[in-house]
Order: sequence, then structure tokens, then C-alpha cells
Amino acid sequence: MLQVKELSFSYDVRPILSDINFTVSKGEHVSIIGESGSGKSTLLKLLYGEFDLDYGCVYWKDTQILGPKFNLVIGYDFIKYVAQEFDLMPYISVEENIGQFLSNFYPEKKQTRISELLEVVELSDFAKTKISLLSGGQKQRVALARALAKEPELILFDEPFSHIDSFKKHRLRRRLFKYLKEKEITCILATHDNEDVLGYSDRILVLDDCKITTSGTPEELYFNPVKPLIAAFFGEFSIIKNEIIYANQLKVVEQSNLKVTVINSYFKGNYYLIEAELDGKTIYFNNKTTIENKSEMFLEVIK
Ligand code: ADP
Ligand code: MG
Repeated sequence: MLQVKELSFSYDVRPILSDINFTVSKGEHVSIIGESGSGKSTLLKLLYGEFDLDYGCVYWKDTQILGPKFNLVIGYDFIKYVAQEFDLMPYISVEENIGQFLSNFYPEKKQTRISELLEVVELSDFAKTKISLLSGGQKQRVALARALAKEPELILFDEPFSHIDSFKKHRLRRRLFKYLKEKEITCILATHDNEDVLGYSDRILVLDDCKITTSGTPEELYFNPVKPLIAAFFGEFSIIKNEIIYANQLKVVEQSNLKVTVINSYFKGNYYLIEAELDGKTIYFNNKTTIENKSEMFLEVIK
């Protein structure tokens, strides 16, 4: 379906992306992760045809995605791109924005579609509200609904939940990804939040140093993170004897050869994250209870 071959791009002289290769099949959900500035947004924009490539090509089925040098109007009907900065029309209502790209030819059908989308993003009560009166998170939800309105074949999300408060986030994610799977809409998502990925993405691509350095299912990358950058995406970890160990892989035992001194405990809900010192290095482990600072204890790695 989507084919990216030997893609290279720079805004000026500094390479941003170099020799990027991957394919995405119909209905698949792929996440692109990487540090801020690693080129996630740039890659999504290239997949949409916002810039011309320096080298390589992008195909959706048989259509080559081309940039502004070859296209008068940027973008393609079958792709929707939801930018980090959403450009809604501020002085018209939520429902008018969502319906912006829907035909007025069948007004009833249009209204049904808008109501369905308002439900997906939980904004039914705000249908008639002007965009300018909404919070950042509500605007982001309108942008998501508008992108879905015409059922694109491919949807590109750039940190789609970054402005949405955590009260709403979890439920919205579940609804949205379920909706995309039901409609078999292919989805590529750039994010630095593991909660956007775990449980939803079929595959992760890791962008680092201008390249896709690693790819795999969320499970594969979690259980074999290869490098600290990837482990950091999943949670707190330490490097002990050159191995990446997650905080939940360490437990307190009576006696062992890992003797640590506790520095601090942080409440995390159903556990505490304990910061401790091991041979002059800071390490992290999870514990059921808080532990008094400066206590000495022994840890064991559980795998
Ligand atoms: P990410 O989304 O992973 O944070 P971006 O794709 O936004 O990364 O940016 C990648 C690099 O490209 C950064 O170094 C950024 O400063 C640079 N960059 C982004 N947009 C532009 C632009 N329009 N012109 C020049 N440089 C840019
Ligand atoms: Mg970005």
C-alpha cells in the first residue's frame, strides 16, 4: 500500500532524513517514535507531499506522492494529515468545521456523518459552538474528526493527543483507534508518548540520527529495546552491567550482589518508583511501598 523507498530530505544543507525505507499495508497502524527534532513531523509531511524529496520516492498504491514542484495543490484526496498545529476555521461552529470537506449535495447524509464523528471525539454537546470558544484539547478533537470526515484511505497523525487532558485521553484513544480499525483506515502516527502506541500500533519505527534504526512490534521493542533511546520510550530504566533493566524488573530481596542506597521515593499510583544509588550510578526500581531515604537494600533482576 504505502511504499517509501530510499527517501532523503533536508530543509537546507543539514540532512534531516536519509535513506528511509519502509512499507505499510492496508489497515495497518504504524507509529514513528523518536526524540524531539528527530524528523517525525518532517517525515509525515513528506508522506503527504508537502515538500519535494531530495532523493527517493513515496507511493500509495500506484500513485506516486509528489511535492509542490509537481503539484499545484498540496496533498491528495485519499490522505489526511492532522498537523501538530491544527488549522481550523475559528469563526464557524464545530459541526461546520467537521463538515468542511463533505459535499452539501446530500444534506441528510452529511448531518448523519457529522453526528457520528462528533460521537467518536465526544463533542456532540459542542456541535454549534464556535471554534474560537474551545480549549486546545477540544480543537484538537475537532481536527481529528474533520480528518476522518471523508474516510481517507491513509491518515497521518502528528502527536494527535498532545493537547487533550488525561481525563479524556484514554477513552478517546480507544475509540479512535477502534474506529480506524473498523473502517480499515491505514494510520501512521508520530508520537513521543508510549500510551499512544502500546496496545494500538501494529508496528513501531524508531527514527534516530536521520534514519529508521529499528522497527518491530511494540512487544518486540519492549522486550528487546536494543538501546537506551528505545527503553526510555517505554519507561524508567537503569543500565546495570551493560544491560537495560526496566524499573519493574528489579525487586528487593534479603541478600544479593546489587546493594543500593535509596535516594527518593515517588508515588506512582499502584506502586512507588524508587530512585537509588548503585556503585555511584543512579538506578530506578518499583516497589509496593515507599522506602526511607538513605536505607540500604539488595536488589535482584527478575526477567
Ligand atoms: P520532530 O517532529 O521529530 O520533533 P521535526 O520534523 O519537526 O522533528 O524537525 C526535524 C528537524 O528539522 C529539526 O532540527 C527542526 O529544527 C528542522 N526543521 C523543521 N521544520 C523546518 C523548516 N520548516 N525549516 C527548516 N528546518 C526545519
Ligand atoms: Mg514534531
